[in-house]
Amino acid sequence: MSPSFQPSVKYQKQLKRDLAAEILATPGGEKIYSCLQCGTCGGSCPLSGYMDFTPRQLIGMVREGFKQEVIESFSIWLCASCYECTVRCPAGIHVTDVMYALKRVAIREGIYPRRFPVPVLAKEFMRMLKSTGRTNEFWLAFKMLVKTTPLKLLTMWPLGLQMLRRGRLCLTFNRIPKPAGESLRQMLESVGERQ
Ligand code: SF4
Ligand code: SF4
Repeated sequence: MSPSFQPSVKYQKQLKRDLAAEILATPGGEKIYSCLQCGTCGGSCPLSGYMDFTPRQLIGMVREGFKQEVIESFSIWLCASCYECTVRCPAGIHVTDVMYALKRVAIREGIYPRRFPVPVLAKEFMRMLKSTGRTNEFWLAFKMLVKTTPLKLLTMWPLGLQMLRRGRLCLTFNRIPKPAGESLRQMLESVGERQ
């Protein structure tokens, strides 16, 4: 936590408990109230040195109702899903899944760092999957760069061209056959409704 951290909450009535309720209802997050605040997760995390809040702090803040701080945090986007925290947590909390749940809340509420590649990539990935049942690396990377760091396209196009020539990238969208595509779309929508 940065020494200049100023919480948005000044009075108890400003605390928002709905985030904790949502995480409790998420697979992997059921045990957040068993967190010992031991710090094993943050101590094991290869990226905690770059995070504004360690996983331990995030879990404590979720429980106490500091919703705004949690979903505005960079930490949830820095998480590399390595599962080290989950494997080592003595309380059996699936910290990585909690991080994913927090990312979903941040995307749903539209609160995430603008032009930060990870949330844009996640949204484009889901959009593509829902419409075609498959992802296309070329268009996924292209859309992400256009929406985050468009100037990078100027430096990356020679590499893209080389990969296209060697057949490592494909411009055409492939769709999965209709019955399977419809089942996948229904599955994704049902998961989306619960988030
Ligand atoms: S390792 Fe588990 S119990 Fe310890 S602080 Fe992290 S989440 Fe809590
Ligand atoms: S899964 Fe995320 S939070 Fe957990 S140790 Fe890895 S990078 Fe850190």
